[in-house]
Amino acid sequence: MDDNSAIVIGGGLVGSLCACLLAERGYKVTLYEKREDIRKLTASKGRSINLALSHRGRKALRLIGLEDEVLKNAIPMSGRLLHSEKGDTESVKYDPVSNQCIYSVGRNFLNQALLDAAQKYTNLKMFFNHKVVDVDFNKSTIEVTNCMTNDSIITSADFIIGADGAFSVLRGFMQKMPRFNFSQDFIDHGYLELCVPAKRGDQLRPNHLHIWPRGQFMMIALPNQDNSWTVTLFMPFEKFAAIDDRRKLIEFFESTFPDALPLIGEQELESMYFKNAPSALVSIKCGQYDMGNRFLIIGDAAHAMVPFYGQGMNAGFEDCTLLNELLNQTQDNVSKIIKLFTQKRQKDAFAICDLAMYNYIEMRDLVTKPTYKLRKIVDGT
Ligand code: FAD
Repeated sequence: MDDNSAIVIGGGLVGSLCACLLAERGYKVTLYEKREDIRKLTASKGRSINLALSHRGRKALRLIGLEDEVLKNAIPMSGRLLHSEKGDTESVKYDPVSNQCIYSVGRNFLNQALLDAAQKYTNLKMFFNHKVVDVDFNKSTIEVTNCMTNDSIITSADFIIGADGAFSVLRGFMQKMPRFNFSQDFIDHGYLELCVPAKRGDQLRPNHLHIWPRGQFMMIALPNQDNSWTVTLFMPFEKFAAIDDRRKLIEFFESTFPDALPLIGEQELESMYFKNAPSALVSIKCGQYDMGNRFLIIGDAAHAMVPFYGQGMNAGFEDCTLLNELLNQTQDNVSKIIKLFTQKRQKDAFAICDLAMYNYIEMRDLVTKPTYKLRKIVDGT
């Protein structure tokens, strides 16, 4: 392929993978990331945010030869471990028939591995601390500002991809165009990240995604490589707000998550709970992902979803797989593939957003119901 150029906006999980795939195909790729290079940041101790990686995501990583390295640094989770209010536990396998599992992988590790992979391509250039601030669909240009110097450039490429997350700047400009359909739903529940420190990590049963389902809300824990566990409490914002002092917090955990409290530790819990405000969760659907002849949005920019199915990143990685297939099928006809991408991707993206919303009810409530357990026995799932 001769000198086809591409710009990828965003060097997060999906943008860095997409940039690698395009470079692999021979595109001259420029990646703009508004944050500093995360590989230069010193990791924050005791708090490692992780993600569940599944088949969809692995397939895309395989395309750039990164699957094995990632799996070597990931922890298999073969099922859910349900914790009752009394502290009893029950293991529910994801796939008792062929033992397939999902993997817990550190977000920073994965992003760094993808950026390292991107760095190896001589036809791929990455600019950190560079943010896209303006888009002109008529001229097919974008404006990029250097966050350190405030200098701006207007630039363009044959293919311009927005992988700039749930609050995508590129999508923001698409939303201003006529007949661009878009919906955004913030749910009434937020999340707060807590931690079981490495020194007590052995006390949780390994190789499981732990769930404390409590009807209207829930807590989960995923394992980290350093033996710690990232614990996430999902709850209505009102309930977070009502727990506004130490006594209420400890009483709430003693009565609701009695087995988790000694693992997290009272002091650590208090400091983590009051240090950070709960974060919001949003679900986004778009009527199209393409604009003009060369603009496309992928990943959370196109279909951010609530995290209860653990599929946001996986679906974003699958966007990259689809993009690669379409480029193969059309001999890199960009104006054709961006329209095909919308046609082929939209139903699946809507479905996974809806399933993710539904799975919150399943995880926080239905897993404790006799009908759910009966179905698992009948289906063998
Ligand atoms: P992002 O990760 O948001 O990356 C976007 C990048 O673009 C960022 O680096 C940002 O700095 C950059 N950027 C933004 N604007 C600009 C600009 N103007 N110019 C240049 N750069 C810009 N998914 C799973 O598959 N499994 C899970 O288990 C899972 N768990 C989750 C748990 C929680 C609590 C949450 C909130 C999400 C979870 N997800 C999970 C979803 C997953 O985090 C996202 O789907 C994924 O991060 C999307 O990647 P992305 O690259 O599209 O967007």
